[in-house]
Amino acid sequence: MKKASQILPMEITMDSAAMLKTVRELNGRYPFLTVTTLGKSILGKEIPVLIIGHGKKKALYVGAHHGMEWITANLLLRFVNEFCELCQADRTVYRLNLSHLLQTYSIHVVPMLNPDGVDYAIHGTTPANPLYNRVIGMNGGSDDFSRWQANARGVDLNHNYNAGFAEYKRLEEREKIPCGAPTRFSGQEPESEPEVRALCNYIRFHVPIKPILTLHTQGEEIYWKSRGKTVSGSEAPVRKLASLCGYTMNEAKGLASYGGLTDWCIETCNIPAVTLECGKGTNPLPVSAFFPIYARLREVLFVSPTLF
Ligand SMILES: [Zn+2]
Repeated sequence: MKKASQILPMEITMDSAAMLKTVRELNGRYPFLTVTTLGKSILGKEIPVLIIGHGKKKALYVGAHHGMEWITANLLLRFVNEFCELCQADRTVYRLNLSHLLQTYSIHVVPMLNPDGVDYAIHGTTPANPLYNRVIGMNGGSDDFSRWQANARGVDLNHNYNAGFAEYKRLEEREKIPCGAPTRFSGQEPESEPEVRALCNYIRFHVPIKPILTLHTQGEEIYWKSRGKTVSGSEAPVRKLASLCGYTMNEAKGLASYGGLTDWCIETCNIPAVTLECGKGTNPLPVSAFFPIYARLREVLFVSPTLF
């Protein structure tokens, strides 16, 4: 029997269990979708990678570095679902024949790099967590984790990459960021966290892989430089992306300009990479923000692999 609609409901609170359930459903539906794993989080949760297509030219999209920004996983899973659905119907979208695209490209999608942080932000934590006392302490004694960004042990994954790490450590001290915090603590050393180490290893293994798009919320901005540095030839495609979604091209400033995935890609690996600050409002964005954000980013997600 033919299923009427294979577009999954995506206006849902996307904790790690909902993410895994969605990934399993997608995996069962599309023969040209491969699901593999990056590894496990600090608390042992799976970090899946979905790969659409089998072409030699690879691109990578990463969501939910930050706990309260879980809506970025909804965006990426919706994209995978829609891409596969349209491809199955042999459709042309944005002048791209998707079945043909699958022969030339493969799009690697990590919907949720930080499942533990997402679950803290959505559900808080309980004494069953072996890190309970530590993280309650890091959270100022509060059991309200709704603004938690870091991983399970208080490291901000988007400061744990090897890009300006030593300089950032000095700023961290100046700003009195504690060793373990809901946001902005970079960890003991670059790639100290299993989530980041696994992603860096994955990228190193798959080079050349470009572009690398990282989704955060919020601000409707595209960050594409790392402390003034750019990857040669990346300006025109980034300009194109900005024109497609109407986001402003910008440069991360201050503490935000160190140790992120985009910084590491640009400075260390010479891979064109952008951070998309999706949507506008106050984090955590409500799930009702999903459709308007997706509508603006849809073309960016479909065409990015072909632009760089
Ligand atoms: Zn973020």
